Order: sequence, then structure tokens, then C-alpha cells
Amino acid sequence: MNDLTLKDCVDRKALSRIQLERLQQTVTRLYEKVPFYTKAFDEKGVKPRDLKTLADLAKFPCTVKTDLRDHYPFGLLSVPQNDIVRIHASSGTTGKPTVVCYTREDLSIWAETMCRTLQMGGATEDDMVQVGYGYGLFTGGLGVHYGAERLGCSVVPMGGGSTEKQLMLIRDFGTTVICCTPSFFVHLIEEAEKIGLDFRDTKLRIGFFGAEPWTEEMRQLIQEKSGIRAYDIFGLSEIMGPGVSSDCECHCGLHIFEDHYYPEILDPNTDEVLPPGEEGEIVFTTITKKGMPLLRYRTHDISRLHYEQCKCGRTLVRMEKIRRRSDDMLIIRGVNLFPSQVESVLLPIKGTVPHYQLVVTRTKAMDELEIKVEVTPDVFSDEVRSLEVLRNKIAFEIKQIIGLSAKITLVEPGTLERSAGKAKRVLDLRKQA
Ligand code: ADP
Ligand code: ZN
Repeated sequence: MNDLTLKDCVDRKALSRIQLERLQQTVTRLYEKVPFYTKAFDEKGVKPRDLKTLADLAKFPCTVKTDLRDHYPFGLLSVPQNDIVRIHASSGTTGKPTVVCYTREDLSIWAETMCRTLQMGGATEDDMVQVGYGYGLFTGGLGVHYGAERLGCSVVPMGGGSTEKQLMLIRDFGTTVICCTPSFFVHLIEEAEKIGLDFRDTKLRIGFFGAEPWTEEMRQLIQEKSGIRAYDIFGLSEIMGPGVSSDCECHCGLHIFEDHYYPEILDPNTDEVLPPGEEGEIVFTTITKKGMPLLRYRTHDISRLHYEQCKCGRTLVRMEKIRRRSDDMLIIRGVNLFPSQVESVLLPIKGTVPHYQLVVTRTKAMDELEIKVEVTPDVFSDEVRSLEVLRNKIAFEIKQIIGLSAKITLVEPGTLERSAGKAKRVLDLRKQA
């Protein structure tokens, strides 16, 4: 067992002591160096010395995405700007991007946690890692890149997109590990099939997939279709980037690298801290970051925490796979719906392929849900009746399981838009009306 694996199996009492010490240093640093936090602490009437136990963190203020936007671009630094050696920013589909800054030490910790992620999935220095996440301001590419280099792998900085080239490199270089979004990998599997390439005939053996929600059903399907082992990796740029938590071989939740990222679960409505095992919004505090530490950052991602030791031997807390975000819930005719629920219903149905889109419209104050689903080529080549049977089956299952009547549109394979990054599963046209 090497050093990093040992860190994943640390005695929890010792871990709590380290966390408390690091948290105390973090709140002190924030109070002294970042005017935004000085003001927020004062408004709440708390001082760094009030943090005597880990539970005391609940008394401290939270940070939300708009706080980063309001201090765009460099207003939340806790070091002189000179000490920043890297700047990233999130996609920012609306308004200004969210900017995050790293010192040299921060980058080293990021590489360490990403390296531990790769090790958790069984990667070693003998692997060749193809990075299929985007490089640039997005944290995915460079985050995975430096983690893989730290592990001593041979890194292929391919970047997102360029399907044909991805496949060529997998075949010609003998790539053993691929990292990209799960939806992009599904696309790679399909395109490989078209050119007669079976991943079982290549050296590809592990995939680290994340940056977007995907279901356990999707993980199974990827494994069956490609013959590789698929792992879920989670992260967000505000906290660090990829490698905040990751799947082990037991696939029973993602181990959080708690020695650097301290998690809490909050009731999103009351902001109250919930006990272990309860579902709520996962909130992170960076406890070793220097450039731009964040206190109790609200992710909007919904999960649960499990503190019992995992069967893999790791003691690090496990967060349940993120199935939804508190802000991606669709309310259709009063029924709450998450895109991942639709995915769970669709994937086991024979004849469908894992590409779908939810289109929501409103006519005369009535919400309409259309689910576009791609089907396998044989369904379309078959007689019209089999299309009808499949459509009815999907509509029935959606109604049974989710409780909603939806219009099901079966589309030919390859017609829904593919993304090289995060998949766009929902088109809510009500807001534009
Ligand atoms: P952007 O704002 O550009 O999307 P990020 O890449 O930092 O920036 O996005 C982080 C978000 O992506 C997370 O808060 C979460 O909602 C989602 N995400 C990342 N990894 C996963 C994962 N493995 N499973 C589910 N959701 C994920
Ligand atoms: Zn485990």
C-alpha cells in the first residue's frame, strides 16, 4: 500500500482532528484576508475562535455562486494576486463566468486528489491515460492531466471532441484509461461500432466518467457495451475541479477526499445541517486551499453521506451518486421530475439507445412533456407496428414510474445532438414563452 492509499484509510478520529485544525486555519485566514468573509462573519456575529468543534461550522456563513460573480474576477483571493499561478473559469452559460484561482500549493493538492481518484479505480503508473475532457478554462482537462502525471502514467492530452481521432489514438497508442463525460463515451462506443472497432479488441480497460449526472444503469450499460470498468468521478471548479470525490470498486457511493474538502448536507429549504444518511444539498468547505478558499459552498447537488467504513477498506466518507441538482428539477403539471429518473426508466427498455432529450412546452397554461428517444436501427427498419409497440411501452413505464403522461417521440439513431462535454438533456421552452 502506498502513501496515498493510506490517506484514504486513515483512522476517523485522527482525521477529525486534522480536519478541525485545518478548518480553524481556514476560517482565520478567510476572516483576516478576505473582506467579503470579514463582513459575512460580522453580520452573523461569529469569530474564527467560535469554531471549537467540527459541528460549530454550522454557525458560519455559506457561500453561493453569486458571491463569486459579485466579486468577479479576483475579489475573493486570500493571497496576493502574485501568488496565483493558474486561473480557471466555469462555463457560465448565463452572465459572467465563475473564476477560480490556484496557488502552486493548491495545484499540488489538486494533482494529489486527482491521482488518488485514478488509483481508486485501479490505474497505475503503467497506464496510458487519454484525457478526453476539455482543456482550457474548464477544469476537467488540466485537472485530470496533472493527476495522471502525478501517478506517473503516460498522458495523452487529447481534449474533448474529435471523435475519430479519439478512436484512432485508443487503437494506435494502446490507450488503457479514458477520462471524459459519460455521454461522450456512449457516443464513442457508437462511433466505434460503426467503424467495426470493438473496445474489447483494444487495450482500453478503465474509464473515469463525470462532470454530469449519470445513472447506475448507464454505468452498467457502458461496461457491458465496451468491456471496460467504469467509475464515477465528481468535482466542481469552485472547490477544485475533478477529483473532489470518486467511486471505488464497490460502487456504493463516492469517497470524498475529506482531508482537503470538508462536506456537510444541508436542508436546501431551511439551511439546517442534516444528520448522516439524510438527503439534502451537499456543501463543501476547502480546508487546505490557499488561493481562493471557500467556506460552506452551496453546490445545489443533492446527495447523502455515509460514514460507515466501506467494504473496500477506505474510511473516507461516501457521498451517494448525484442523481439530481436542486435547481434542475422540472415541475410538470405539478409533478416533480428529474432527467435522471427518465434515464432510469429508458435504459432497461430494449430497442432504445442511451440518447434522449426532454422538451417541455406550455400551451394555454398546460405543461406538455415530450421525450425524444433514439432507438436502435432495427426498430426503424421493422414494420410500423413495432415502433408503435415501443412507443406505448415507454409511455406506459413513464406513467407508471414517474406518474406523468408524456408524448414519446422515437427518433432515428444519431439524430439527437451529441456533446463533447456535458450533455444537454432538457429543453425547457416554457421560460421563453
Ligand atoms: P460548470 O459550472 O462549468 O458546469 P463545473 O464543471 O465545475 O462547472 O460543474 C460542476 C457541477 O457538475 C457539479 O456541481 C455537478 O452538478 C456536476 N457534476 C460534476 N461531476 C459530476 C458527477 N460525477 N455526477 C453528477 N454530477 C456531476
Ligand atoms: Zn470504497
